[in-house]
Amino acid sequence: MKIKQLAFVILLSLCGLAGAEAQTQIIAHRGYWDKLGSAQNSLSSLKNAIDIGVYGSELDVWITRDGVIVINHDDDYQGVLIQDATSEELSKLRLVNGEPLPTLNEYIAIAKKQEKTRLIIEIKSHDSAEDDIRATDETVRLINESGLNSQVDYISFSEHACKELIRLNPQHRVAYLNGDKSPQELKDEGYWGLDYAWDVLKEKHPEWIRQAKALGLTVNVWTVNREEQMLYFISQGVDYITTDNPQLLKGLLTR
Ligand code: MG
Repeated sequence: MKIKQLAFVILLSLCGLAGAEAQTQIIAHRGYWDKLGSAQNSLSSLKNAIDIGVYGSELDVWITRDGVIVINHDDDYQGVLIQDATSEELSKLRLVNGEPLPTLNEYIAIAKKQEKTRLIIEIKSHDSAEDDIRATDETVRLINESGLNSQVDYISFSEHACKELIRLNPQHRVAYLNGDKSPQELKDEGYWGLDYAWDVLKEKHPEWIRQAKALGLTVNVWTVNREEQMLYFISQGVDYITTDNPQLLKGLLTR
């Protein structure tokens, strides 16, 4: 009888633990751009991500020479180096779908109209630490001024940017992208989580998922586009999957 009772208690505890585990959330990488008429890192990609109700829409930010935060993946757009350009020069450029190269202020205006989908802001690695910090300070200033702070997670490969984000506000949700720090190191440095490439978390350091969770860090994995990999990371209980295919992931999670 005692053994039966004990088994019942263990079963209940396991169910409780499983119930407490939050479901994996979807982050649309560079927005939900893989839809007719959209483009990566565009206002329409943000609107599309909001329309399908994902947890987050990722975007990449740079600071221009004259201090404007603009959205683009690479350090240049059509041969124009963003760090060395003025916002005036960049405003003439068009994305593949005809939209202008967007600014963070334009993203904020759209994000503010709703509360479900967060901005996942990647501060890019500029040529100097000084510019990483300028980009970070200006991004945070705009986000705070707009009242969106509680709807933003920050990510970066740049330790300069990450350290500045944590220095400005230890409550900032900052996840490190570069894949070369253990969960314990991140915890000690005040990070909120890790956001590592799939091969780091599946092949090089599969133990880091469990370690991060035990330390109370969040786990995000990029860029996961294939169904079998999505299923693998869902089974590992990661908090977030960053994908170019948010609809496929949404289908798997609601199945
Ligand atoms: Mg990015």
